[in-house]
Amino acid sequence: MSKQEVESQVAQDGTANAPEMQSLMQKMVEQGVYTITPKIDTMKISYPLLTSVFPEKSESEIKYFLDKLVANKMLIPKLLDKIIVCPTCKSSSVYSKYNCPRCSSFDIGKASIIEHVRCGYTGSKERFVREDSLVCPKCKGVVSEVDYRTIGTSFECNSCRSRFEAPRMSHKCYSCEDVFTYREARYEPVLEYSLTEETKRTLAKGSVPLASVAKILRDSGFDVSLRADLIGKSGAVHTFDICARRGTQLIVANFTFEPKEEDIIGLFAKKYDIDPTITLLIALTPASKEQEAVSKAYGVKILSSGSFDSIGEEIVQLAQK
Ligand SMILES: [Zn+2]
Ligand SMILES: [Zn+2]
Ligand SMILES: [Zn+2]
Repeated sequence: MSKQEVESQVAQDGTANAPEMQSLMQKMVEQGVYTITPKIDTMKISYPLLTSVFPEKSESEIKYFLDKLVANKMLIPKLLDKIIVCPTCKSSSVYSKYNCPRCSSFDIGKASIIEHVRCGYTGSKERFVREDSLVCPKCKGVVSEVDYRTIGTSFECNSCRSRFEAPRMSHKCYSCEDVFTYREARYEPVLEYSLTEETKRTLAKGSVPLASVAKILRDSGFDVSLRADLIGKSGAVHTFDICARRGTQLIVANFTFEPKEEDIIGLFAKKYDIDPTITLLIALTPASKEQEAVSKAYGVKILSSGSFDSIGEEIVQLAQK
């Protein structure tokens, strides 16, 4: 099989075949970001990673795309929050207000309710206030600290003067100025998406990282084979994602999403049998301290970086040492 044939077969491999998913993965690899995070601004919930990949897609097309990827088990949604959205224009730029349950006025306030002990009149403390003393609105008597007791706090309407325990809540849209209650409001989930294990495997084994690293190696004079089989001292056949030869140097590399210990040890077994100059495990996410230690012990170098261009260059630099 020629290099081109191998590469095209890689491209057709699994779910990465979907061209849109391929573009998304390309972007993820370029940026080293593998979570699709929502951004809530004054107008809407958006996904900047997706709008950068598909600038022509509308908000609802992006939502449809994400739903499809979730249905196909490529992404896992995680509920971060729920927000109130205008039922008329779908803006998330909404504020809440308290209203009088009787006349619907928004001009209501919290009131401390007191009772004038002598005449039994109860009302909001505000209505007793006359300059710097308290005067009972009913009997007109001056009320001192000991003449009243506090009943509690409640809300009071400045329009119809009614008192109530709890106000009615309404929402107003900053964009279209529609006013609506919780009954009419849309209550939308804010979701973050991460890759399923299956997608991580597909991504690590897909053509995106392979092609971007292979190009840089070829530009530096390496003869590169993708998904190459090499025969070891034992006679066993070992497959590497990348095999790069230049002169007497042989660099072998496998891709993985996270540099797990089992990947490091698996690669060590191949390295032992093949004896390459450099053995690399290229990870899409950074290695932990433990993983670094394991890789040192086994003589397998872990490369992980935000961008795959820099990984290609790192390999070239390693080969020069
Ligand atoms: Zn009174
Ligand atoms: Zn009222
Ligand atoms: Zn609106």
